[in-house]
Amino acid sequence: MEKIQMTTPLVEMDGDEMTRILWQMIKDKLILPFVDLKTEYYDLGLLHRNETKDQVTVDAANAACRLGVAVKCATITPNRQRMEEYPQLTEMWKSPNGTIRSIMDGTVFRTPIVIDAIHPVVKNWKKPITIARHAYGDVYKAVDLRTDEPGTCTMTFKGVSGRETTLDIQKVDGPAVWQGQHNKEKSIRSFARACFQYAVDTKQDLWFSTKDTISKVYDGEFKAIFEQEFERYKAQFEKLGITYFYTLIDDAVARVIRSEGGYIWACKNYDGDVMSDMVSTAFGSLAMMTSVLVSPDGKYEYEAAHGTVTRHYYKYLKGEKTSTNPMATIFAWSGALKKRGELDGLPSLVSFGEKLEQASLDTLESGVMTKDLVGLVAPGFKAAAVTSEEFIDAIAGRLSAALN
Ligand code: NAP
Ligand code: MG
Repeated sequence: MEKIQMTTPLVEMDGDEMTRILWQMIKDKLILPFVDLKTEYYDLGLLHRNETKDQVTVDAANAACRLGVAVKCATITPNRQRMEEYPQLTEMWKSPNGTIRSIMDGTVFRTPIVIDAIHPVVKNWKKPITIARHAYGDVYKAVDLRTDEPGTCTMTFKGVSGRETTLDIQKVDGPAVWQGQHNKEKSIRSFARACFQYAVDTKQDLWFSTKDTISKVYDGEFKAIFEQEFERYKAQFEKLGITYFYTLIDDAVARVIRSEGGYIWACKNYDGDVMSDMVSTAFGSLAMMTSVLVSPDGKYEYEAAHGTVTRHYYKYLKGEKTSTNPMATIFAWSGALKKRGELDGLPSLVSFGEKLEQASLDTLESGVMTKDLVGLVAPGFKAAAVTSEEFIDAIAGRLSAALN
């Protein structure tokens, strides 16, 4: 069989631990036999980030901006414990995802991978719900303060013009805690555009929620910017028959639970953090969640939503065969290949990505799955746990049949 050709390389960002092992397995068994794979390779493994003083992460993110489509393996974000585990680390390097997000200025879209054999905890959910999480600012870039005597806290803004604005936050009669948060108009606007663009790309309704009744200025700004940006997309939405609507976050939560799914729910940074865990757990597991970072000018970085699965990696190092779920990492590859095919006008590459996804889903539906999923299978469906390698081999068998 002739291999499927590519024109533009993907930006390949390799990673750490168990997901790095799965990464290689997926390439060797599911991609390289069928596709004449072209990638620009960046090793984001922790030790290589350390050797390059994290320059490799910056280079990889810039490459994603230049080439337009990247695929990323999960990576370790070092903490104190990791500093002890890897004594050669010269610094507690920042989260690669954080670095890439700030360079690409993106919004993260997370969608559960839904199969018949696993029923969502919420009975009426029929279609996946995509969470679009704003990835900049608010509590994630806040400054905190604890005080232990009566007094007053104020907030001052000093403009470059020399003009100052001061507000009293509160006068307190005893110990207190304080927090200063911000967001930037530019970032909120990018967030809004990425959401509208993604709704158009995937032909789904867009919901957006904040708490603007309480946070009138701060959340009110988010609401107003979304309304302004929607004007640019209104005609496209009408043409596609999709809708945009805004509601309060508490109303949104109630509506989401009663809905059938099949839409995008745009959330502020903290709401998206919390709600994506709720949605993924209610649909099945984090190992069955795809994740893509989309920049406002249409650059894409595909990844798995879970981490490097450390506990499994230590078993693997002892020579054990693990049953780690590779679905999210496979879908990162298929998503990136499909997008590359779409942008370069290569229908056979798009079709390969679709067939890879279908073969993976069919393997699960046939009852062959990793350990984490077996316990979630609904009554009446059969399921047997296999190792990661056996699971990937089963997919490869189906894929090869589908392509011939
Ligand atoms: P994790 O790697 O997602 O794993 C947590 C637990 O969830 C695992 O121990 C496993 O449970 C289960 N799990 C996650 N993915 C699975 C899969 N594909 N198949 C089967 N089970 C799966 O999170 P973590 O242990 O908190 O973090 C480990 C490292 O990953 C950290 O160094 C962190 O910095 C990094 N991380 C990276 C990213 C990223 O790059 N996107 C995201 C999050 C965390 P059992 O052990 O019970 O089987
Ligand atoms: Mg979280």
